[in-house]
Amino acid sequence: MTTIPTDDDLLSGARAWVEIETTTGDIEGLTRLAALIADDYHARGAGVTTVAGRDGHGPHLVCSFPAARAAGNGGVLILSHIDTVHPRGTLASFPFRVEGDTAWGPGLYDMKAGAYLALRAAADAHAGGSLSLPVTHLFVSDEEVGSPTSRDLIERLAREARYVLVTEPAREGGQIVVARKGVFRYAVNAFGRPAHAGARHQDGRSAIAEICRLALAFEGLTDHATGTTCNVGLIGGGTGVNVVPAHAFAEIDVRVENMAQAARVEAFVAGLRPTDPDVRIEITGGLNRPPYERTDGIDALFALAKEVAAGIGFELRGLKTGGGSDGNFTAPIRPTLDGLGADGAGGHTLDEKIRISSLSERYALMKGLLERLT
Ligand SMILES: [Zn+2]
Repeated sequence: MTTIPTDDDLLSGARAWVEIETTTGDIEGLTRLAALIADDYHARGAGVTTVAGRDGHGPHLVCSFPAARAAGNGGVLILSHIDTVHPRGTLASFPFRVEGDTAWGPGLYDMKAGAYLALRAAADAHAGGSLSLPVTHLFVSDEEVGSPTSRDLIERLAREARYVLVTEPAREGGQIVVARKGVFRYAVNAFGRPAHAGARHQDGRSAIAEICRLALAFEGLTDHATGTTCNVGLIGGGTGVNVVPAHAFAEIDVRVENMAQAARVEAFVAGLRPTDPDVRIEITGGLNRPPYERTDGIDALFALAKEVAAGIGFELRGLKTGGGSDGNFTAPIRPTLDGLGADGAGGHTLDEKIRISSLSERYALMKGLLERLT
């Protein structure tokens, strides 16, 4: 018999994870947190495999429980990340803190609280003998930079699963995520010809002028009616005000709702040419995360989650978001529900906070799903 954990119990577990700083690439911190999670899962009877980090990233962790009842092929993949966007040292100026029903801390909302409550839900369902399918809980260490070293592992485990549950934070009053936009990232470089801006202006070829034309062309992709957006988020170049600039660059973020829009973006980029034939342009990048489109499988999974939530006593709503997550990698492979983490706000800021009373609700939702998915 397992007792249902209280909000305070869940919060103190999440606090221990928050107090180990784990910005992406902080191998020491990520290794320390992965070891803490491995020990916790191991003590709760899970099989634990640590996948060594590479290319400047920390380790990933795969924890699994068998099903209590006989099950066919495939189980449930719970997908979490242990990295945060907050650099080492953030905790000193933005410490874990509680006021009423709110708790703050770097990485608490995105997504240590969600990952921790899922650990407890999986372990308690296992201890209670109520897991209907085998459960694998994957913790990756590089989600915040697009999962360069974990994507293959995520996709492989998704193919071995029947369902994927992602513990990213809940949105805007506890909504879960049933669709996400796909994300393109591009780096554009222009190479012109330097010249004295006074004496030899006619010999110069301005890389900045070219980048500006390209930036405006990219911005023209935006169509709020269909959901395609383009943001030229970074731009720079030149060496001095009296020099025709030889080099300039822009970094660009494009988001799409479906693969048809993705194809339109790819065709646009493939057709880009410099306006000035003496300027060379170089475009690198592409679709970093495919769109997470709503499917019948996702609708069925969402319907079950609503039923479980209603049994607990809250109404679960779903939404589409423009933000990408590792759920974008799994949704094209298996039915995926995302945003199953804690309710709160302020992700990626120094006002990152959760609603403490959402912890036991979300724990019960995760546990109910793990007991009822077949
Ligand atoms: Zn996240």
